[in-house]
Amino acid sequence: MPILICGGLGYIGSHATWALIEEHGEEVVVIDNLAQGHLAANIAGAHLYVGDLGDEQLLDTIFTTHDIEAVIHFAASSLVGESMIHPLQYYKNNVLATYTLLAAMQKHDVRKIVFSSTAAVYGEPASIPIVETTPPQPHNPYGETKWASERLLHWCDHAYGIKAVILRYFNVAGAHVSGKIGEDHEPESHLIPLILQVALGKRQEVTIFGDDHPTPDGTCIRDYIHVTDLVNAHSLALDKLRRDEESATYNLGNGQGYSVQEVIATARRITTHPLPIAKAARRSGDPAILVASSHKAEKELGWSPSHSSLENIIASAWRWHSQHPDGYK
Ligand code: UDP
Repeated sequence: MPILICGGLGYIGSHATWALIEEHGEEVVVIDNLAQGHLAANIAGAHLYVGDLGDEQLLDTIFTTHDIEAVIHFAASSLVGESMIHPLQYYKNNVLATYTLLAAMQKHDVRKIVFSSTAAVYGEPASIPIVETTPPQPHNPYGETKWASERLLHWCDHAYGIKAVILRYFNVAGAHVSGKIGEDHEPESHLIPLILQVALGKRQEVTIFGDDHPTPDGTCIRDYIHVTDLVNAHSLALDKLRRDEESATYNLGNGQGYSVQEVIATARRITTHPLPIAKAARRSGDPAILVASSHKAEKELGWSPSHSSLENIIASAWRWHSQHPDGYK
């Protein structure tokens, strides 16, 4: 039975679509509104519907046409800074769209979903590494909308038996080993692609947001996870839903933190570009340190990240960006 991937042409969704079709032999149906997605990212040839998750009629058509077994829901607005400026957009695209999707699932008797959540639900956690029992306390509308969706999923399990595996991503980066798909956001706001744009000569310098954080070198520490490892967790989550039909929540990170300065130093080695820096004020809403404990995913899903050394993440991203300096254009 087919899997519906919402947001299957975006950065993470396109890697998942390809892996499910090519590596796992799944039949995949994609819905994507092309807000972040790219038609050219559909390289495995998934059955595609271009449209919005808020479009009830389109969802009805998809669930009526295809006997969908499970949904993987990547589609969302996902930038902390943007969410502070446009909270209404975030509630519409993240909470309302998830509501519409769940209502369609309930109507068409689809009872399995893998949901993309985020480390942003934790806010500024008191202790590191972060475990899943850390009480969520989001500091921005992005984290808040993902947490609200997590609660909606909880109650849809309680009332309708819709089982959800919620995956809380830390900092996803890197590109597919083939070099054929990768990250292409417009405008770009993530650290690693921005650094690589400097290496490509598209930007003058790397801006460091704050060097006065309470960390050893003063810059923020994040847990970077390779998109290929992250995607693997989604097929393991599907296996789990097929196996035990129980809902669960997992952190997905590498368990190791790197400062912004360390990321830049690694990128200098890989690109051989001097990568000049400029120092700027802290970015509003940025916690100093976010590092995951992913032991629960390792133990219960049998997941273990194997592509997520910082070198491998940056080298794979560099391959993609240097071969596609203008992304999919
Ligand atoms: N960052 C930075 N300069 C940039 C972009 C990001 O110093 O031009 C920092 C940011 O403050 C954060 C880290 O790099 O500490 C990762 O940011 P990104 O936007 O990639 O992911 P986030 O942690 O916000 O999900």
